[in-house]
Amino acid sequence: MKPITDAFGSMVFNEAVMKEKLPKDVFKKLKATIREGKTLDANVANTVANAMKDWAVEKGVTHYTHWFQPMTGITAEKHESFIAPDDHDGVILEFSGKELIKGEPDASSFPNGGLRATFEARGYTTWDPTSYAFIKDNTLCIPTIFCSFDGSSLDKKTPLLRSMAVLNEQALRILKLFGSDATHVSTTVGCEQEYFLIDKELFAQREDLLLCGRTLFGKLPPKGQEMEDHYFGMLDNRVLAFMQELDEELWKLGILAKTEHKEVAPRQFELAPIFSTTNIATDHNQLTMELMKKIADKHGFACLLHEKPFEGINGSGKHNNWSISTNTGVNLLEPGETPATNAQFLLFLCAVIKGADEYQDLLRVSVATPSNDHRLGANEAPPAIISVHLGDELTSILECIEENTVYDKIYDKKMEIGVDILPAFPKDTTDRNRTSPFAFTGNKFEFRMLGSSLSIACPNIMLNTIVAEELSLFADELEKAEELKSALAALIKKTIREHKRILFSGNGYTDEWVKEAEKRGLLNLKTTIDALPYYTSEKNIKLFTKHKIFTENEMRSRGEILLENYCKTINIEALTMVDMVQKQILPAIEKVTKSLTETILNKKAVSPAFDCAAEMDHLHQVDENYKALYFDCQKLEKACIKTTALDSMHEQGKLFSTTILKMMETLRADADALESLCSDKAWPIPCYTALLFHD
Ligand code: ADP
Ligand code: MG
Repeated sequence: MKPITDAFGSMVFNEAVMKEKLPKDVFKKLKATIREGKTLDANVANTVANAMKDWAVEKGVTHYTHWFQPMTGITAEKHESFIAPDDHDGVILEFSGKELIKGEPDASSFPNGGLRATFEARGYTTWDPTSYAFIKDNTLCIPTIFCSFDGSSLDKKTPLLRSMAVLNEQALRILKLFGSDATHVSTTVGCEQEYFLIDKELFAQREDLLLCGRTLFGKLPPKGQEMEDHYFGMLDNRVLAFMQELDEELWKLGILAKTEHKEVAPRQFELAPIFSTTNIATDHNQLTMELMKKIADKHGFACLLHEKPFEGINGSGKHNNWSISTNTGVNLLEPGETPATNAQFLLFLCAVIKGADEYQDLLRVSVATPSNDHRLGANEAPPAIISVHLGDELTSILECIEENTVYDKIYDKKMEIGVDILPAFPKDTTDRNRTSPFAFTGNKFEFRMLGSSLSIACPNIMLNTIVAEELSLFADELEKAEELKSALAALIKKTIREHKRILFSGNGYTDEWVKEAEKRGLLNLKTTIDALPYYTSEKNIKLFTKHKIFTENEMRSRGEILLENYCKTINIEALTMVDMVQKQILPAIEKVTKSLTETILNKKAVSPAFDCAAEMDHLHQVDENYKALYFDCQKLEKACIKTTALDSMHEQGKLFSTTILKMMETLRADADALESLCSDKAWPIPCYTALLFHD
């Protein structure tokens, strides 16, 4: 095996490769394109394409694909080979600048939320040179953005890049006021990814896991996670081999996989990379999820990325660690060491606090999926209420600044912005508060509400945009000011005063917090269906159109897609339950009934002295639950047909999120009760104990 340092990035057409393979002037022009978003001229594109192809062919590659991130939340690719006929009945390998820059996949089968009629189904993929091309599965993958014939974006990458550009522009305005020499600002993200690994053969025997990614039935096993013996536990050989191969493959793609460990629930694990620029982190997280699934399969596992694969034990999330950095290497969310940098830190901090308060709804919408609804507010993940955790110390400092009082723990005088130096906070000094949805952790914010299967693009589009908006308002005000220092102090104080209701460092899992949050006027949008209408509120449309992240049409179409996805997901889950009940569980119970009745008849035939009390009781219990299961299944099936026939998608959503989900719960309870009444052999699907404790 190659040493890791050699293998790292070996499948990436990165800067070092570009420098080696491209003529100097072409390399320079390409770098300018990457840095400043300048368009490439055709000659340069041809040279780059040719160099990319030669590099890839040397590594045995025969195909290329434009790799993009449509609204399905996963990635898409359409493979083309490099071959072209030569004049002598043979082939040559070709890849032109045109093919590199633009692709034209038929877009009609990707979600578009009514943005285009199908007769206008042309979609375009356009090379995004800010993300390196790479080789995966013997195919050269060109990261692209995806839009319709009229330029409307149909993917997650375009608005993400736009939001990064807007944040750059607004942050630079602020930095200029402080005399910074930075010329570019980017947001950075490191996301911790949770997942489950279960035995592949058992997985294949469960229709619910195959079709929905989660179990829809299953009596809880005698042991769950209460012994806390899984967290950070020793890794068995099969898991270890999986993790090693995963790391190696990720490294080849230049992905900085760093930490791997066992999580709280049995068979649950986590992988965290070292952070990178947000668009790269987004690509890398998609690739990580994809590779996890593929490599798991090679090791006899199925990798579950679903937010709640099992009832009764923790589900999986993804922590999105987010910060803002300059090209000069300054983390703008790091408390500074001089009075000026500290005032600057406070201003950026205030922008995040104000943004989180004014756009709570958008942060909530950005993590709203039917699968994540099972976690948020369920005592294993943050509540559905957005609040900001700063830790007691920083909160006290902000209070003292607001009230002009002395923070006597550290200072013996009043804190004056731009005069006193904030202490270097030990990271998260108060506690490791896991119950906060959005926590400041020393030099970054950790957004903890994301579901494990979610593309991180949307939450980061929201974070970038709302912070850019607040920075732009701050800059408007400060640029007008006659004297920066006093204007800054007034602005910071005012922001703390007006938005401190969003600050909360206590336990977010408690009922008291729910009541307190209500008193403070914070939103508590419990389900996706509660949250979605806020997406296209007037205030939010104004925000996104002002910064040209989305057009109003794009927003409405995205709202539609989310709603449609919600309805389809619950409908598929309900129908999967119906199918499993009809084809597997009812027939199994009929066999159990037959065997019980035969036993009773046989015993009585042997001697009337056998009263068969136990068998009769067992039979009655089985029969009662069998009847309930049979009729509840019919009810659910009919309710689904009725719901999907409704014209209004919104009405469908409401019914799915209330009536249908309740009926699904009832049906599950019927089946789980029957599972307790059957032998393992009689039960038609692998049980929780096998799924969760099988090594
Ligand atoms: P934890 O204590 O929660 O494990 P760590 O400090 O190890 O947190 O970091 C968790 C994640 O945060 C990692 O992916 C790390 O790379 C990322 N991270 C650290 N600094 C930054 C930053 N400035 N911007 C974005 N992500 C960061
Ligand atoms: Mg974390």
